Amino acid sequence: MNYGACDLLYTAYEMKLNFEKHKFIINIINLIELSFLRNFGAQSIVIAVKKDKLMYCFFCGEKNCKEKVLDMYQVPVCDECIKKPISLHYKKKNLNLIYPTQTLINPPSFGKKNEVCYLCRKSFITDEIFENNGFSVSVCDECIKKPDINMKLSNEYFLPMWRRRGQIII
Ligand SMILES: [Zn+2]
Ligand SMILES: [Zn+2]
Repeated sequence: MNYGACDLLYTAYEMKLNFEKHKFIINIINLIELSFLRNFGAQSIVIAVKKDKLMYCFFCGEKNCKEKVLDMYQVPVCDECIKKPISLHYKKKNLNLIYPTQTLINPPSFGKKNEVCYLCRKSFITDEIFENNGFSVSVCDECIKKPDINMKLSNEYFLPMWRRRGQIII
């Protein structure tokens, strides 16, 4: 089992630090977030794997992963999927629990709007509430449902946003 935490901004918010009023606090928190102190962050991440002689591959779902692969990876990976770049995110030495982008503070909500999918270039309308589904790029419903795409977006395009509780976003 491996675990860690991140998101000191949320911790600061819970401690009543007013980073909306004192914007320099955000810069300080973003710097601390890069150190081991991010373990005091509010978001916990746990990866727990039940070991067996033969396990299902985390990426393709085939039951063909030997226990030994867990010496190098956080999750079971088969010989084929090890060649995919996405597997690098799950290498033990690469475990780096930081967001790929800094948190956006109180961004204006855009709700429903016409967008072009970043991946397939198809036009679509974003969701009124979920907007870009928490990613830094607009991706259509069809693309987002594909497991390999969803995994890539979650690892590389996740965009944390902070908005005040109870704020009306529609
Ligand atoms: Zn696989
Ligand atoms: Zn698409």
